[in-house]
Amino acid sequence: MKKMKPIIKKMDGITNYYCPKCKRIIVSTWNLRQSGTKDNYCRECGQGLDWSGITLEVYWVD
Ligand SMILES: [Zn+2]
Repeated sequence: MKKMKPIIKKMDGITNYYCPKCKRIIVSTWNLRQSGTKDNYCRECGQGLDWSGITLEVYWVD
C-alpha cells in the first residue's frame, strides 16, 4: 500500500496530525508537548503514513 502524508490541522494552539484515510488523530502537539507517536501505519485502518519532511514542534521526540 502506498504511504500517504498525514493531514495537518492547527487550531487553538494545538496541531493535530490526522490519518488521511480514516481521519483518526495520529499525533497531537501543543505547548511543545506531544501526544501519540509518529506511527508508520495507522492503527485504525492500516494506512501507511509518510512523515518525511514533517517535524513535530516538541522538545522531546521519540
Ligand atoms: Zn487510518
